[in-house]
Amino acid sequence: MYNRILIANRGEIALRIIRACREMGIETVAVYSQADAESMHVKLADQAFCIGPARSADSYLKIDRIISAAEVGAVDAIHPGYGFLSENAHFNEVCRSCEIDFIGPTPEAMEKLGDKNTARSIAIASDVPVVPGSDGLIEDDAEALRVAEEIGYPVLIKATAGGGGKGMRVATEPAVLAAALAQARNEATAAFGNGGVYLEKYLQRPRHIEVQVVADLHGSVCHFHERDCSVQRRHQKLIEEAPSPTLPPERRKAICEAAVKMIRGAGYTNAGTVEFIVDEEGGFYFIEVNARIQVEHPVTEMITGVDLIKEQIRIASGQPLSRTQDQIPCVGAAMECRINAENPDRNFQPNPGKITGFFAPGGLGVRFDSHVYTGYTVPAYYDSMIGKLIVHRPTRGEAIETMLRALRELQVEGICTTASFHQRVLTHPTFIAGDCDTKFVDRELSGV
Ligand code: ADP
Repeated sequence: MYNRILIANRGEIALRIIRACREMGIETVAVYSQADAESMHVKLADQAFCIGPARSADSYLKIDRIISAAEVGAVDAIHPGYGFLSENAHFNEVCRSCEIDFIGPTPEAMEKLGDKNTARSIAIASDVPVVPGSDGLIEDDAEALRVAEEIGYPVLIKATAGGGGKGMRVATEPAVLAAALAQARNEATAAFGNGGVYLEKYLQRPRHIEVQVVADLHGSVCHFHERDCSVQRRHQKLIEEAPSPTLPPERRKAICEAAVKMIRGAGYTNAGTVEFIVDEEGGFYFIEVNARIQVEHPVTEMITGVDLIKEQIRIASGQPLSRTQDQIPCVGAAMECRINAENPDRNFQPNPGKITGFFAPGGLGVRFDSHVYTGYTVPAYYDSMIGKLIVHRPTRGEAIETMLRALRELQVEGICTTASFHQRVLTHPTFIAGDCDTKFVDRELSGV
């Protein structure tokens, strides 16, 4: 097992990883930007190195500085968290070439899955259903028109290098297809330096269901059940829950088995998430693999009782999965609300600044993963999430009640948060019925 791990991240996920390391008797090395000198991950790590100015491009994305810190700190491994360099195959490669383990999949698997069109081909080859669409990348307008005619409008144009919703365009009819194609290509070229796009049928009211998978270096692959992340605003997840409130047991089993096939087909190791969209009839279609730990992993930890970060560390060090599939239960219902420093009454405008007063909710079934404290200043440079409020109760109804009371208990003074918005979602009849699709928030609660 490792003696020392560097955490190439900040915020709540850096703390989450430090906590797992400490319980495992592993020392931690933090890195931080000048804007994060007062951050909790810096205070709680055994050692910390400043790696540059506030802007991510000058600090958390600077591979050479992170590697220098790792070498000075004499670490055995690097945990990348999520975001920043977590899905950067080059960084992964550099770590390994410096004889530092990267806690994640191999650079090869990461590279293949990072290209959505390649991932789609792997899904097809692994017998995992994909959304009807083009057979590979689209060459020209004529081909796009032909494919769209075949699968039927509306169609979604997707950038193969895409992420964070960039390079995605909907075309509702042939007259607008060429223009949408050009826009998607341009946006993808500007953002990713790769203008390759493909077509998918655009589902009208999909649910977003993803499956947590963990694979070790010895050929074992287990799923840790599904999460429903349909409560999104502009494709950004707001609330995640497990198990899915509506999928019948045999569909849940089928989607989890499909995810395992995908991970095996890709030769993927460590923790990863296979994302699907699900139509109104319960048909599911692969959309992408996230080759890292995800923000919403605690929801899965609550229903399975497994510490996924510890599992990631053990697996990277060569140990086998700590359990077999039948030892991974799905107990009760768990839910997570992302608490962001944003003003929900002003179109979710980011609201960084100093937290002048803070109280974290507690009590039975409540977990609050956060790096903030009274006197902490939320910097304007990074994403606006200041914490994740997670509840775990025997039933979904009780989880909603506990979440509502925990949201009321949460006190954050000095800045606005999205807590009030979550209360609106959790009391909405559509959410209570477990009936949200990915457009629900934009359709029924936008402008709130
Ligand atoms: P990104 O990597 O940019 O986030 P994804 O492929 O994960 O892109 O898609 C982002 C979101 O877009 C999904 O969560 C889903 O809500 C929606 N989406 C993706 N594909 C389709 C589709 N074919 N039809 C309808 N919605 C889709």
